[in-house]
Amino acid sequence: MTEATLAGAPAAPDVPTPARGGAPEIAPERLDPEALKVLRHLRQTGHQAYLVGGCVRDLLLGRTPKDFDVATSASPEQVRAAFRNCRLIGRRFRLAHVYFSGRKIIEVSTFRKNPVDDLASEPVASPPPEGDLLIEEDNVFGTAEEDARRRDFTVNGLFYDVSTGAVIDYVGGRADLDARAIRTIGNPEVRIREDPVRVLRAVRFAAKLDFTIEPSTAAAIQTHAHDLVRCASPRVLEETLRLLRCGAASRAFRLLREYRIVRLLLPPVAAFLDACGPEESERLFGLLDAADRRVRSGAPAGDSFLLAALLLRLARPSTSSGAPAVPVEPLLSDLVHLGRLPRRIAEGTRLLLLSQRALLGETRRRGSPNRILRSAHFAESLALMEANATVTGEGQEALARWRDRDAGHPPRAARPLAPLPVAAEPAPRSSSLDLGAIARARSRRREAEIARLSGLL
Ligand code: ATP
Ligand code: MG
Repeated sequence: MTEATLAGAPAAPDVPTPARGGAPEIAPERLDPEALKVLRHLRQTGHQAYLVGGCVRDLLLGRTPKDFDVATSASPEQVRAAFRNCRLIGRRFRLAHVYFSGRKIIEVSTFRKNPVDDLASEPVASPPPEGDLLIEEDNVFGTAEEDARRRDFTVNGLFYDVSTGAVIDYVGGRADLDARAIRTIGNPEVRIREDPVRVLRAVRFAAKLDFTIEPSTAAAIQTHAHDLVRCASPRVLEETLRLLRCGAASRAFRLLREYRIVRLLLPPVAAFLDACGPEESERLFGLLDAADRRVRSGAPAGDSFLLAALLLRLARPSTSSGAPAVPVEPLLSDLVHLGRLPRRIAEGTRLLLLSQRALLGETRRRGSPNRILRSAHFAESLALMEANATVTGEGQEALARWRDRDAGHPPRAARPLAPLPVAAEPAPRSSSLDLGAIARARSRRREAEIARLSGLL
């Protein structure tokens, strides 16, 4: 592991474009009060501290940021010492989490630099360097400017200095916000090869912000997307789930398809799209559109629901499409075993897909409709059914019946796929908890729930 070194921590910020008088570039009331407390306290203890990344980008675009991140010249230990309510996290690189009431966390990262910075700042036109560029280690401290330059895309590399009210732009992010362009900071070939997960990030930001990926970045993505297979599975999985969660999954998956990336992430989905013809593939994207609307509305839309929306057409393609149904079972179990998808999410997806048959009355129904209505995932099952009915026109009558029944039913606890209870598990024999046994028992219960849904309902 490279030894972390901390660059000097001057209190006075070295900013290229400080605001001199006049209104701050971002209205103070749009800033998070807790983030402001963190910034102020770090500055009072003699460090540089700025808002950074997604929050600056989103504020300048007039969007509401998901969270407010802070970058500082203080080392992780100095940050921990500065706040009582602070914990250091992370192995790959150490970050500080400052906790506030209401489970709010402000993430504070120390300025770092790219370990292969010389290559990354090569002009775009220079020949791509030979050899392996994959970054394995990313914990070398640096200056504010180096920290901006090690970030992925220009629009994500902006800092905001609340003390001067000025956006600090070391990377040309303002111009790309205006041009609505996703562009790597530095040479795109290098930046994609050193961390191929950026391919998925570029797609997510382009989809979510409705930006275009500028040509040299797009070319590097096209050439090096296959390097994704070299990245750690949990990172690829996390960025894939973030694509589904971003509220623009339909646009994101269209882009992934254009760049021929679906086959790297989810080969059966790519094979289905290739086989099914344009009408059926539009239905698949239509289901993602519906899921996006649900995400944007703030209704419960867990990862199981989003995956089910992606996979529903594979499980039940229209006969006219000519595409054979794809068994979703092996696909989900590959995602669990090879992609490290948590079993809980995969099983939730199976439940939601199976519940469609029950809702459509395709399975022998021995349970009462009330039993379906009471199930914890009913709201998401119905949302999936509605989405499918909208894109295919199928199941309209059954849908209307379930809506009527739902309207007359007392409200359920509003939570996506409640975990099955473990309270009834036999007490562990030894004094230490046998988590494996609990997980196995929990899994047996889910199997029973799935059997119930597919057979009894
Ligand atoms: P969102 O609002 O969707 O969370 P974000 O920009 O905050 O978008 P994050 O994944 O939360 O994205 O990352 C925070 C910031 O960290 C990014 O804006 C970017 O500056 C930097 N970053 C994250 N991942 C990478 C990466 N793989 N390579 C370089 N910089 C990265
Ligand atoms: Mg973020």
